[in-house]
This record gives sequence, C-alpha cells and structure tokens, in this order.
Amino acid sequence: HIPVICIDGPTASGKGTLAAVVAQKLGYHFLDSGSLYRITGLAATRAQIPLDVANEQAIADLLQSLPIHFEGSHIWLGPEDVSELIRTEEAGMNASRVSAFPMVRAALIDLQRRFRALPGLVADGRDMGTVIFPVAPLKVYLTASAACRAERRYKQLISKGISATLPSLRADLEARDARDANRSVAPLRPAQDAKLLDNSELSVDQSVEIVLNWWQS
Ligand code: C5P
Repeated sequence: HIPVICIDGPTASGKGTLAAVVAQKLGYHFLDSGSLYRITGLAATRAQIPLDVANEQAIADLLQSLPIHFEGSHIWLGPEDVSELIRTEEAGMNASRVSAFPMVRAALIDLQRRFRALPGLVADGRDMGTVIFPVAPLKVYLTASAACRAERRYKQLISKGISATLPSLRADLEARDARDANRSVAPLRPAQDAKLLDNSELSVDQSVEIVLNWWQS
C-alpha cells in the first residue's frame, strides 16, 4: 500500500511550494501535474497545432510520443530542459486551454498514476484527489484570496526579472480558475473528503506544519 497525499487548489495558491516541501520532509516523490499540461501546450504549439477542441485527438496523440523526463526539479522534453520555458504566464494559459480537452486529460491519467511509488507520493494539481488518486488517505484543498494569489505571483515574476502588472496577473489567474472550474471533465473543486486550507494569512512553514499534522494524525 503506497501512501499518497493530494494537494489541489486554484492557480497560484502555493500548492507547488507546499507540496514540494511536504514531499521533501517525508522523503516522498513529488508530482507536479500542472507541468504535464504545460508541456502539452508547449509541444502542441511547437507542432503548430492550434489549441482548439477540434484538435484534441491530435494533441492527445502527440502526447503519447512525448519524451518527458523528470529529474529533481527539472523537466526535460527529449534533450531540452524546458523547466523555465513552461513557467511563463503564456505557457500557463496554454496549459489551461489544453487541460479542458477530455482526450488530453485521459491521455495523462496513467502517466500520472505511475508516479505513485514507495515510500510515497505528494501530488500537486487540480484533480489529484477527485480523479487521479481518489482513494488517497489525505487530500488537501489549498486556497487563498485572489488578491493574495496575484500578489504572490507578482513577487515571483519580479524576482525573476520578468515584468508584470498586478491587475493583469489577477485577471489572468481568475480567467484560468474560471476555465478550470467550468470545464466538463475534472472541474476544479475540492474532493468530498478534502481538508480545506486557506493560506492567505499563513507562512509556508505554517502550512507545511498543518499538513504534516493532518498526515500524522
Ligand atoms: O498548476 P499549474 O499552474 O502549473 O497548471 C497549469 C494549468 O494546467 C492549470 O491552470 C490547469 O488548467 C491545468 N491543470 C489541470 N489539472 C491538473 C494540473 C493542472 O487541469 N491536475
């Protein structure tokens, strides 16, 4: 029996950071499922396939042959390290578009489940608890106010020397959340047995402690 902790929630709620730290503290594997949708968007764009639902089969087919490799916090597409490239706001928007296509989601299910390995897994995404690992013993649904999430994203980008404005970041993340919440497959919502955590007023350490306490109790 391999334990899985799911951490789902909206864009820029801090899932990635929380999940990575919890995984590291427990010595577990880590799945950043959003990166798979980001790579899908990138690969389809490069193959000049417009990101329309009419092309969902072509995009899902493309996915079958993508040489994706994870190495620590780095993600490779064949010989190319795409870790930075897939982090842009544009890549996030493209990921959000392809993630609404049922065939694309279906094509990624087994790949995601293969991350479940001893001694355990922390999985970060939107549907980890509802679709990919429905029997996981701990499901966390992480949220923060939109203002707070936009500000965190803003600071992240500025620290990397990427220019951004708060209103446009907030509009982008709200557009992405709306698309994630309204799509026909795996809409963004907490699993029925998820524990809700609003980290608007919490530090990363505090959130980590809460999750580790839930895990140990
Ligand atoms: O988490 P991240 O921002 O990297 O995810 C990029 C996009 O991929 C999200 O906006 C969401 O639309 C989609 N996604 C998803 N299901 C997941 C992870 C990400 O639909 N499990």
